[in-house]
Amino acid sequence: MKALKDKIRTEGKILPGSVLKVSSFLNHQMDSDFIMKIGEEFARRFQDVPVDKILTIESSGIAVALAVGTALHVPVLFAKKHLTSNIFGEPYQTVVHSYTHNSDYTVVVEREYLNQGEQVLLIDDFLANGKALEGLLELISQAGAVAVGAGIVIEKGFQEGGERLRQAGLRVESLAIIEDMDESGIRFRES
Ligand code: 5GP
Repeated sequence: MKALKDKIRTEGKILPGSVLKVSSFLNHQMDSDFIMKIGEEFARRFQDVPVDKILTIESSGIAVALAVGTALHVPVLFAKKHLTSNIFGEPYQTVVHSYTHNSDYTVVVEREYLNQGEQVLLIDDFLANGKALEGLLELISQAGAVAVGAGIVIEKGFQEGGERLRQAGLRVESLAIIEDMDESGIRFRES
């Protein structure tokens, strides 16, 4: 998606640890028109598969997931990172390692919102080592639902998550894949 790559080039900031900061339009301040366009692009890319529900992980995936859900007219479910008191019963849950925080956290989804046989499209803002997506896949597996694919806004192709998940058979559609980035600039994989 050319408009996304242009935006990353002009507004993205490279932080230590190969972290890309895109807080001007995606992760802090959100460019609502642009995120709606991202939602439409994912809806176009996944138009060949029936999707019952979108699943993402709080908090940065939620805005994009809502844009996709709006374009596809399906509900959006986000995995929570805390077992809050308003979660009833025994939820589906698993532990995820956070790349940006270098710590583990538990993600949970209430059982009534993820059902056996549902066709689920995963959405997230970034794909790095693939731990967040693997956590969501585990929740889907616990529910007996089906992952039809994953839509990623920015994949860091120099980290191994994308390749591992594709090799495992997951359809991963990334709107921008960064081949490498350093002080001289950001280079994207041809797509
Ligand atoms: P993974 O689990 O694939 O290693 O990392 C994906 C998660 O970590 C995403 O949900 C995203 O929130 C965060 N993340 C990973 N790399 C980056 C990055 O370079 N920039 C930002 N802003 N978030 C990242």
